[in-house]
Amino acid sequence: MNNDKIILSVATTGSWPTKAQNPGLPITPEEIAQAAVESWREGAAVVHVHVRDDAGKMSCELSRFLRVKELIRDQGCDILINFSTSGGAGRVGEEERFNSLAAGPELGSLDAGSMNFNDRIFLNPPDFLEELARRMLAAHVKPEIEVFDSGMIGNALALEGKGMIPSPLWWQFVLGVKGGAPATARSLLHLVDSLPAGSLWSVCAVGVRQLSMNVLAIAMGGHARTGLEDNLYYRRGELARSNAQLVARLTRIARECGREPATPAEAREMLGLARTGI
Ligand code: ZN
Repeated sequence: MNNDKIILSVATTGSWPTKAQNPGLPITPEEIAQAAVESWREGAAVVHVHVRDDAGKMSCELSRFLRVKELIRDQGCDILINFSTSGGAGRVGEEERFNSLAAGPELGSLDAGSMNFNDRIFLNPPDFLEELARRMLAAHVKPEIEVFDSGMIGNALALEGKGMIPSPLWWQFVLGVKGGAPATARSLLHLVDSLPAGSLWSVCAVGVRQLSMNVLAIAMGGHARTGLEDNLYYRRGELARSNAQLVARLTRIARECGREPATPAEAREMLGLARTGI
């Protein structure tokens, strides 16, 4: 396999953006699945999914996660499915955050520590993280370790040391959140340098820094996540039309740099995922 391949992820929806902010934001299961399939056609190998209720608010309802998965697979799309366990940055109780694991995603987010998150507190205390990792292991869901600041790397490595996170470790640096590490080259270099050998890492960043941090990842041999969860604009002052539009741009840039987007099958192999999930 060509190790220069890049795993492109698309985070379609998130917990907070609204259609009023960007009409292209997918909200219903049908819209989220459609965004996943369109992004897959443009080169995305992973879709990171949050679901919403009928009013458009963040939801952890299992049936909605199941519906998104079903609609994606019904279209013959083999994109890796990553379900969020963030519960809207800790807006709901711990038990509710485990709901999405029962929908059988191949990947699940594991937010590796507590932090001030914009104007709220995102709680991920040690006992919760251990329980989440234990349940993911039991459900054969690989953690995508979301790191918002450098101290979180050690939290995840402590779980790995207990045999609760299988290798290879798959990290997602989420940079530029108010309360977390800044979205700068210096910050990303420090985080990457802090990882153990054999790790695979990806980076996303909120707002206007999304593209530049993605481009750094392409240049550094990392992987990249784009999508409307992190950023609603195509460029300053111009809303993105869709998630797929953002993915298509990243695919073009990666190819120009000699990095072909990995197919879902190739990404599964790189991430050590034995089952196909479809
Ligand atoms: Zn998310």
